[in-house]
Amino acid sequence: MIIVMKPNAAPQSIQAVVSYIEGNGLSVHLSRGEEVTIIGIVGDKSRLSAENLTVYKDVDRIMPVTESYKLANKKFHPEPTSVKVGCTVIGPDNLTVMAGPCAVETEDQLMTIARAVKESGATILRGGAYKPRTSPYSFQGLEEEGLRYMQEAARETGLATICEVVSTEAIEAAVKYVDMIQIGARNMQNFILLKEAGRSGLPVLLKRGLCATVEEWLNAAEYIMSEGNESVVLCERGIRTFETATRNTLDISAVPVMKERTHLPIIVDPSHSTGSYKYVPSMAKAAVACGADGLMIEVHNDPAHAMSDGPQSLTFAKFDKLTRELQPFCDIVGRAFRR
Ligand code: PEP
Ligand code: MN
Repeated sequence: MIIVMKPNAAPQSIQAVVSYIEGNGLSVHLSRGEEVTIIGIVGDKSRLSAENLTVYKDVDRIMPVTESYKLANKKFHPEPTSVKVGCTVIGPDNLTVMAGPCAVETEDQLMTIARAVKESGATILRGGAYKPRTSPYSFQGLEEEGLRYMQEAARETGLATICEVVSTEAIEAAVKYVDMIQIGARNMQNFILLKEAGRSGLPVLLKRGLCATVEEWLNAAEYIMSEGNESVVLCERGIRTFETATRNTLDISAVPVMKERTHLPIIVDPSHSTGSYKYVPSMAKAAVACGADGLMIEVHNDPAHAMSDGPQSLTFAKFDKLTRELQPFCDIVGRAFRR
């Protein structure tokens, strides 16, 4: 349920409503817009008589929120959220480009890639130190050593960093070295892990599960937010369909759909969704054109010898060409992007 206060409601009126709700054992989520304040109620509504709230001064109207996700719901928080990651911000005003190797392989490899992607306009370095591979015999990642290389690369280049976490131990290690953690597609409904990510204190990138609906994905975000962490960014990375021409099917419509349902930023990963470097540029441009707040792109110094996801990784030259070509798309949608 949300309570919409009248435009320019007095602070005392807002406080009176908040106290009434909290006095009934429920919690409150306040969203202060330029003129209108919205009070979201979280908890068991049967504890409260909504009609009584209409007698409070400056209450304009009371609306039910029928969706099971509340904190992630745009009705609770109509203004778009911006999420701070290191010294960069993911939000409606700019295009954030995250780029880097699928897996951190060596310190030299990561440093070389970090310098190159920064040169081409990326502000966040991605790199997997824990790799949840389809086969247990594939390279599983350098773990904490990989995180240390991420921190080194950040020191050297000034880029913010993101790394996927797959367990409680990985979260505990990641908070020491990186600026943002990623919950991968395979863990989107690992609810224990989502809650731990919510308690980590770091911003979280939540990838869409391979077979997850928009509703399930938003409920996964709600798990993180319900632990007090509002810094959640969604990432569309393709879903599993009958089509085999691409690795997954990029659900580009998820971008405008999410813009309608949630205030959280949404970025697109054209690498894992297509599985081929050939399709990455066109999907990246489509994502920007339809309103994505950012992109996550795999880039490798030598894709032919990459330890994972070489076929979808862009070379430095291809990545540089792409970011140049993104500029006019950013101009059209009114987002800042500086190369
Ligand atoms: C990744 O980003 O390295 C990754 C494994 O992606 P996804 O979880 O989307 O498959
Ligand atoms: Mn990958």
